Amino acid sequence: MVIMIKRNSPKEKIEHLVTWLQEKEFIVRQFHGEDQLVLGIIGKTATLDLEMLQSLDIVETASQMSDPFKAANRKMHPEDSIISIGGVKIGGGNFDIMAGPCSVESREQITYIAQKIKEAGVGLLRGGAFKPRTSPYDFQGLKDEGLELLKEARKATGLPIVTELMDAKQIHLFEDIDCIQVGARNTQNYDLLKEIGKTKTPVLLKRGLAGTIKELLMSAEYIMANGNENVILCERGIRTYESDYTRNTLDLSAVPVLRKLTHLPIVVDPSHGTGKADLVPSMALAAAAAGADGLMIEVHNDPANALSDGPQCLTPEEFHTLAGQIRQIREVITQ
Ligand code: PEP
Ligand code: MN
Repeated sequence: MVIMIKRNSPKEKIEHLVTWLQEKEFIVRQFHGEDQLVLGIIGKTATLDLEMLQSLDIVETASQMSDPFKAANRKMHPEDSIISIGGVKIGGGNFDIMAGPCSVESREQITYIAQKIKEAGVGLLRGGAFKPRTSPYDFQGLKDEGLELLKEARKATGLPIVTELMDAKQIHLFEDIDCIQVGARNTQNYDLLKEIGKTKTPVLLKRGLAGTIKELLMSAEYIMANGNENVILCERGIRTYESDYTRNTLDLSAVPVLRKLTHLPIVVDPSHGTGKADLVPSMALAAAAAGADGLMIEVHNDPANALSDGPQCLTPEEFHTLAGQIRQIREVITQ
């Protein structure tokens, strides 16, 4: 249920209503918008007397919310959320790119790429240390050592780091990570989401391989319901019948759809979304034009010899050119 409180309502009356609801075991979320307070009531709200609430002198409107996602719902939080990843803001008009190799492969590799993407003007370094691979015989990532190398690259460049957590048992290793990525294969690993929800670390939550938009929002809800509001959604393509020419089908319509439904920032990953380096620039530009709050792009110094996802990685030079074009699109759409 969403209750809009009338402007200039006495504080004591609002507190009285909140306490009354909490005593009835409802979760009450308070969103202080620019000029109005919104109360989001979570629980079995069908048991509440809507007419009685509507008749209270401090209530402007009270309405039931049928959507299953509550904390992530824009109705509960009309303004865009802005999430800070180590000081780099995403959402609410703030745009940035998280770039880097699919896998951290060596100190030289990650530090070199970090420097190159910094030169291209982007704010966030992304690289995988724990890698979810389809085959158990493929490179699984440098794991703990990869996290250390990312931290070294952060120290060398000042870029905050984004990296994937696959297993709740490893969460203690991620305390000093600026943003935890939840990969497409783990989007519905609810135990992992609950554990991440107990932290305050920003989360980049990817859409599942065959996940609907509602399922993505419900996964965000798991993290938020456990206390972590810092969720960024990531459209990374979904599995469709097309497999000859693209790895996944990038659903750019998810950007305006999510924009309507949720206040959470939306990032697009055209690298996994297409699986092909030559398709990444056009889809990255289209995503920026569609109003995404950020992009995730894979960049490798030597794509032909990358230990994972080489075919979809841009070279630092290609990335530099693209980053400039993305800035131009941003200028046009934010005019
Ligand atoms: C990745 O970001 O390298 C990755 C494995 O992505 P996804 O979970 O979207 O497949
Ligand atoms: Mn990858």
